[in-house]
Amino acid sequence: MLQGKVAIVTGASRGIGRATAIELARNGANVVVNYAGSKEKAEQVVVEIKELGVDALAIQADIANSEQVTEMVKEAIDTFGRVDILVNNAGITKDNLIMRMKEEEWDAVINTNLKGVFNCSKAVTRQMMKQRYGRIINVASVVATLGNAGQANYVAAKAGVIGLTKTMARELANRNIHVNAVAPGFIETDMTDELGEDVKGQLLTQIPLATLGKPEHIARVVRFLASADADYMTGQTLHVDGGMVMP
Ligand code: NAD
Repeated sequence: MLQGKVAIVTGASRGIGRATAIELARNGANVVVNYAGSKEKAEQVVVEIKELGVDALAIQADIANSEQVTEMVKEAIDTFGRVDILVNNAGITKDNLIMRMKEEEWDAVINTNLKGVFNCSKAVTRQMMKQRYGRIINVASVVATLGNAGQANYVAAKAGVIGLTKTMARELANRNIHVNAVAPGFIETDMTDELGEDVKGQLLTQIPLATLGKPEHIARVVRFLASADADYMTGQTLHVDGGMVMP
């Protein structure tokens, strides 16, 4: 499905990013495994991908830092010759009620979750324009639509990501660069591990399919958006959330 394609997945050493990197590789793509923290975990993903018979490379870069992002994309192009797919997955939370939220908490989440998407998308755009081909998939969240008490920074960033998705889709359509988003609901990863059993039980009552999602649920929809099956789609946000949001 993705034979010969080159993908960059940000924050790919664990969670949804890891599952996505492996799913794209299983479908034939060579993958750049971006990471910010543990090199060891990123290298484990690289090993797993290589066992699937495609190539992979772990590159450290803080997506909030435009210089590091530019370097990462350069290294990806030097290694693989092109970039076909960018999955803007990396993200953080720093939850607090708005009256208690520190400026640093606001800035950190906006810089990673929104500016990071801008940095990475900008950095691949020149190459994708040259290729007259690109697929950018942004990972948003259901909370961009629903709102969520205690997550003003995160919700603002994710709503921004959906707006950015639509704008990039319009700007880049005539170069055959499609930009779409997935909006996960509540997915079992390290990010949601911190929620207590009480909160998880409460959440289940808001999910029509009455179960939390798995990283693979998101990865498969990202793979669809990256594939030729989604060739007539751009600017869309697909909610992968067990039915929480029904737009
Ligand atoms: P996670 O915390 O398991 O993984 C996030 C990854 O991003 C980590 O590997 C982390 O090191 C990396 N990262 C963080 N800041 C970075 C930076 N500045 N530069 C590079 N990498 C960085 O979380 P996850 O649940 O797998 O989340 C992945 C994405 O899905 C995030 O954008 C998150 O907001 C979104 N999302 C998750 C859920 C959920 O329920 N888990 C729901 C909706 C949206």
